[in-house]
Amino acid sequence: MRTRHLGARILVLPVAAFFVLAALTPSGASHAAEKRVRVVASLPNLGSIASAIGGNRIDLTTIAVGTQDAHFVDPKPSYMVKLRNADLLLINGLDLEIGWIPPITQGARNAKILLGSPGYIDCSTGIQVVEVPSSLTRAAGDIHPYGNPHYLSDPLNAEVVAATITDALKSADPASSSAYEEGRKAFVRRLHEALFGKDLVDLAGGAKLAREAAAGTLDAFLDGTSIGGAPLRSHLGGWLGKLQGVKGRPLITYHKDYSYFAERFGIRVVDYVEPKPGIPPSAKHLEELIQGLSQGEAHLIVTRPYVEHRSTDYLAEKTGVKVITLPLEVGGAPEATDFIKLFDYVTDQLVAAFAGGPARGGR
Ligand SMILES: [Zn+2]
Repeated sequence: MRTRHLGARILVLPVAAFFVLAALTPSGASHAAEKRVRVVASLPNLGSIASAIGGNRIDLTTIAVGTQDAHFVDPKPSYMVKLRNADLLLINGLDLEIGWIPPITQGARNAKILLGSPGYIDCSTGIQVVEVPSSLTRAAGDIHPYGNPHYLSDPLNAEVVAATITDALKSADPASSSAYEEGRKAFVRRLHEALFGKDLVDLAGGAKLAREAAAGTLDAFLDGTSIGGAPLRSHLGGWLGKLQGVKGRPLITYHKDYSYFAERFGIRVVDYVEPKPGIPPSAKHLEELIQGLSQGEAHLIVTRPYVEHRSTDYLAEKTGVKVITLPLEVGGAPEATDFIKLFDYVTDQLVAAFAGGPARGGR
């Protein structure tokens, strides 16, 4: 283990020599593969956040790819091999991976990452979950029994997840605690600047803006606070600034996976191609959607790379409403190479689609 090894080094080397040695090795560069924390992430978004925090201090493996449906990943034996030597397993939780994480953790025979062990990290901890049913039920095939599990569609929730992952890394590798804390801060700073715009973060502070946004009072804060005679809103940039012009616009999504996104950006999700999460549309449901779309109920249909496109093609053909395929995870589109770039891409696509402009990746 890293910690013990470092301890031994301190005892053997004279103190001055140790500090010279530490100063000569750039952050993380000296971390030989065998000393790194072995982290397995169930999904690419979690992997991307972990990578931003841990850098080359962690040896990261991500199981699913961004073009897969996180609900329905095939639990292949090769995934058990990936988990066999893991120190930490990061999962989305809220039963999102119920069909595949339990079988592969059991098959991996690694006590460190079993449910209840310190290395089993449920990243939904601390998230304000929405759409929690009054009673726990998978009745009629509903695959969101604990509420909506797609919380990372609100990028601000990545701050909560980053704190959870940082704590887990510190516990697994206490000697590098300060490096993980630095990694977390740098990620959160980048997230705030991407969400609010750098100007506004410099003026008001990312933590303050994040608190207002989380409390649902950001708009009042931006309109009610002036700096140099101009309301703070005039400094709003980033994803929120970009989407200001399409606030309130209605869309429908294939799956119920944009609730948190819609709340953060003021977009209205007015219906779903699936009548219930995980249930494919019936002919009757499609006819109801056509009726609503024909009456202007929604201006756009958002679908995903991994769902069937027959229904959405049919809706587009019957109503003329545009369909775009957007990634929900890192790697779900070639442009979405990390968690920040995922939202750069998605927000660009939405603005273009609502404006009627070309939407690459659209269908
Ligand atoms: Zn879902």
